[in-house]
Amino acid sequence: MRPGFTGCTVDRADHLRLDAERIAALSGSLDARLLRLAMLDPDLDEAGRLAWGPLEALADGAELIFLGMDGEAPLFAPLVRMAGAGQRAWGVFGLLERMSPEDASLWATARSLIEWHNRHRYCGVCGTESVTFRAGWGRKCPNCAAENFPRVDPVVIMLAEHGGRVLLGRQPQYPPGRYSALAGFVEPGESIEEAVARELREEAGIRVANVRYVASQPWPFPGSLMIACIAEAEGDALTIDTTELEDAKWVDRPGVEAALASAPDAPFLAPPHFAIAHSLLRAWARR
Ligand SMILES: [Zn+2]
Repeated sequence: MRPGFTGCTVDRADHLRLDAERIAALSGSLDARLLRLAMLDPDLDEAGRLAWGPLEALADGAELIFLGMDGEAPLFAPLVRMAGAGQRAWGVFGLLERMSPEDASLWATARSLIEWHNRHRYCGVCGTESVTFRAGWGRKCPNCAAENFPRVDPVVIMLAEHGGRVLLGRQPQYPPGRYSALAGFVEPGESIEEAVARELREEAGIRVANVRYVASQPWPFPGSLMIACIAEAEGDALTIDTTELEDAKWVDRPGVEAALASAPDAPFLAPPHFAIAHSLLRAWARR
């Protein structure tokens, strides 16, 4: 299985991040490349690859995030300043349809870091405006010296199975016909397995056992780690939480296969290929 947003071969070169002189030298090298962004969205060339430019293209006073080394080429992203919190940018999904998982992975790294900087400008301990350090991989408070590192929010996304069918749900903001795996944030004090069981109980009113991990992917809206699982449901009677879901239903294997093949008579519209829900459905259908 090869989920979206994975497979990037760029060396993140963590050992260079604290070496400010070395990072400055790398940013001045002729091989250095700057990721081209339109605010937070990727700028693609005609082949659908990420577009890169010279570091001179960086706006005056803007900061750099060091993404890593692509062979001899140091890769950077601009630390774009945003007026408000970033949005769940549905518009970028059309671009992601054209991107390779490797390019999507690199862009996702930049997007998550940029949003994290914008959402964590002030020290959480004393309220002073913090400054970037570790080549864009942290923030430090000049007043109390507290250090902050980019956060990743774990989210469980899961299929409950029962009698050869899987449970899929629909959120109101989905495109017409779309159904997907249920998902929810892991809460403090919970294991992955417990979060899967709780979410399925809360959103669909079903009890599950034997939660199995399948795969994971980063999801840069703004900084989630999607943890895909399959669980066995004890029954198929649903009690849907309509504040979370518009609808939920059980779909059999032929129905899932038809949706993954984009068949016109499929019982639902499958999630896009770059979403791990798509990979999860494919893994379940093949078993
Ligand atoms: Zn502070």
